[in-house]
Order: sequence, then C-alpha cells, then structure tokens
Amino acid sequence: MSVAVDGSVITFHYTLKDDDGEVLDTSIDEEPMAALQGAQNVVPGLEKALAGKKAGDKFSVSVSPEEGYGEKAGPGPQAVSKDQFPDDVDVEAGMMFLAEGDDGHPFPLWVTDVTKTEVMVDTNHPLAGQTLHFDIEVLAVRKATAEEMDHGHVHGPGGHHHH
Ligand code: ZN
Repeated sequence: MSVAVDGSVITFHYTLKDDDGEVLDTSIDEEPMAALQGAQNVVPGLEKALAGKKAGDKFSVSVSPEEGYGEKAGPGPQAVSKDQFPDDVDVEAGMMFLAEGDDGHPFPLWVTDVTKTEVMVDTNHPLAGQTLHFDIEVLAVRKATAEEMDHGHVHGPGGHHHH
C-alpha cells in the first residue's frame, strides 16, 4: 500500500475546527480534497502531518498559526472604493481577490466587510492568527502524474479541472 511522500496525491476528508471546537469548514458530504504532497497545496502543518500516511488512516492534528495561515500582520482592513471592483461581481465578505503589488506580483486580499460605497479588504487570510484543528481521514494515496508534478496541483476529482 502506498504511503504519502513528496510527489504523492493524497485524497482525504477533512474537518477544520477552531479552538472552541466550532466547525469552520468540512469536506464531509462534499467532494473530498486532493492535494499534491510537497507542493504546498495545503498549509505546512497539515502537509507535514500527512507525510507517511496511507489510505484508511484517521488522525487529528493541531496546526499553529506559523504552520497555518500565519500570524496577523499589517495595518488590518483597509477601505477601497467599490468602483475598483468589477461591475459583474457581487462583492461579499469572505471573498478573495488578487491585487497587483508594486513589484508586479499578485497578492491576495480578503474582503472583510462591504458598505454601500466601500469594500474593506485585508491582506491577512481570515484564519491568520488561529490555531487550526484538523480531523483527517485519508481515502487514497497514489503517485502523481508527470503533468500534475509539472503543474504543482492535482487533476481530476478533488483537484483542478482544466478547460
Ligand atoms: Zn493543472
């Protein structure tokens, strides 16, 4: 039976809880997630915990902010005029947009609030500063294809669907 190493595709169900045990996100009752091990498809702490696992393994892992979505940084939410956003997008809290940095590299911004004229955006991931508690059930482990290795992500169920 294959064991997850760098270059493995791991298909798993996850439930993510916060410190209070509240469920923030879960794949149960939805399509399981598929991640390419070693390609940072998941947060570093979870990737570490998945190493060496095989189909059928169930485990729980708590991931610190440093190995999760980072500590909260920067000035906090900033107001941006609504005209900066595309007309055809209904902007809502929780959405992620890519903005272009001064160096030309895109960086993510998360919407934290929307008013009539302004959108509040933050460079912090909504889960920054939080310890992440994952319950994981590994469904399958297989070797990634050459194309998946090349792209740095999984193709097919639970992964990317190219058009
Ligand atoms: Zn691809």
